Amino acid sequence: MASVLSSSPAPAFGKEDRGGECRTPEEMLAFYRREFGPAPLLVVTNREPVVWEGAGTLSFPPGGVSQTIHRLLGRVGGEWIALRDSGGPDLLRIPPPGEAPEGPGYRLKRLSLPDKVREAHYAGFSNGVLWPLFHDDPDRVVESGDSFEAYVQVNRRLAGRVVESLATLAPGAIWIHDYQLALVAREIRRMAGDHLPPLAFFWHIPWVEISFAADRPWLSELVDGLLFHDRIGFQTERYRDSFLDTVRLLYGNRASWDGRHLSVMTDNGLRTLSLGVFPVSIDPAYFDRLSRDPAGVRAAREILREAGLLGPCEEIRPYLISVERMDYSKGFLERVEILEALFTRYPSRIGTLSLLQVAPPSRQSVGAYRRYAEKVQAAVERLNATFGREDWIPVRTIARSLPQSVLAPLYRLSEGCLITATADGMNLVAKEFLASLKGGDGVLFLSRHTGAAQTMEGLTLIDPFDPLLSARLIHQGLSLDREIRRRRNDRALALIERDNVCRWMAENLRSLGSLRVPAPLRR
Ligand code: UDP
Repeated sequence: MASVLSSSPAPAFGKEDRGGECRTPEEMLAFYRREFGPAPLLVVTNREPVVWEGAGTLSFPPGGVSQTIHRLLGRVGGEWIALRDSGGPDLLRIPPPGEAPEGPGYRLKRLSLPDKVREAHYAGFSNGVLWPLFHDDPDRVVESGDSFEAYVQVNRRLAGRVVESLATLAPGAIWIHDYQLALVAREIRRMAGDHLPPLAFFWHIPWVEISFAADRPWLSELVDGLLFHDRIGFQTERYRDSFLDTVRLLYGNRASWDGRHLSVMTDNGLRTLSLGVFPVSIDPAYFDRLSRDPAGVRAAREILREAGLLGPCEEIRPYLISVERMDYSKGFLERVEILEALFTRYPSRIGTLSLLQVAPPSRQSVGAYRRYAEKVQAAVERLNATFGREDWIPVRTIARSLPQSVLAPLYRLSEGCLITATADGMNLVAKEFLASLKGGDGVLFLSRHTGAAQTMEGLTLIDPFDPLLSARLIHQGLSLDREIRRRRNDRALALIERDNVCRWMAENLRSLGSLRVPAPLRR
């Protein structure tokens, strides 16, 4: 093997490819056709992008990534294979007949699993082990005997569906997503050999610090499984480098890295794949449109009324907004501490600034999530009791999911957005907020522990582990001249417009079309 992993690799794959124009859905479609011709795309995810509401009606659950891919796949056509989350038939046409398609649409193939296996894969290994560990929270890990087995089994079942689909579908690429599905590619290759369309994978969450994971018995199998892809995308250079640290630990000088390609002599032969850094993004024009839509604005004002944030003359009482699933990695408790510091240090904010917290429940089958939600509620009640007044409550919580058509105007009408995640692969809300604001002067207070903070420039970075500092930054940020705030937002938005979701998709799939899949070398 030529060299061991370098500690200072060449620039990330993708950086030098950013010149290629691909910003609009039309350019993305043209890119896709240049890359793959008329071939469709096959996407594999853990969760499906829609909820069956009965009688053929579909709705779209929160989750930036799935909505993003759904809109893109609808334009290029193909198949989406996922675990079933709701009722209805095993095969759904998206969009359903009768709804205006934005493109050829796609087939959603839904895999049903016994509840026990599903829970062990989802609540057990994926969200009871991988999620906390990879979000720097090893104390929350609950390892149970058979959960990794269930993880392997579910990955194998999904791979079986992919192989079945390949009998009739010749996709340009197979694009697999996220930490629940790290072993699907290995299982596909075991079932169907190596002469397959290119296998791309995107790891949406942070990659674990090696010191947290080194002694886990499943780590080598997980990483070995990932090496069966032709490309793996990460959100940030830091996460990619942490992955390389893990490879270095597991394979030593059997691995080499040239800044773009990783070659590893595994027990299954030589595997060569590219590693890219592709920060996931949004369609900013979509949020700009939503934020100004009169029906959405009316619905947003109703939410403000419900939250007590409309005054007697229908005027809006100043508020910050936070929007995320009730997940410990989003730093809800740290946020309460920041507000406590803000109201204590800067009493002028008492009675004049509230927090509107949109917090839909999440992963209720995982014990750690239920316990966390109770703690957050108690902390918010304490804060409200300490600082609240008869005519003003510091924190208002909407404990249900709101559609983006309502979120976008809520962002636009706010004084700012407070993001306190203690670890977050990207955080799309940060980008959605700035896009909804276009031309506005709301302030984004973004946790430095998010992929968004690592990959965007010129923003106010707070630290949820330092409430006093964060409170000071919020107070100062809201005291800044509104024109300065607006200019800062404009600059940040220009970067989101450049690196939007169309570009993200193109960077993930770029040059895969011509990839020859070499037969593996045996040792
Ligand atoms: N979201 C939503 N309604 C809600 C809460 C969140 O539509 O009530 C969406 C939000 O617009 C964003 C996604 O859920 O697109 C959350 O993505 P993010 O990357 O911020 O966090 P994740 O939940 O993926 O960790």
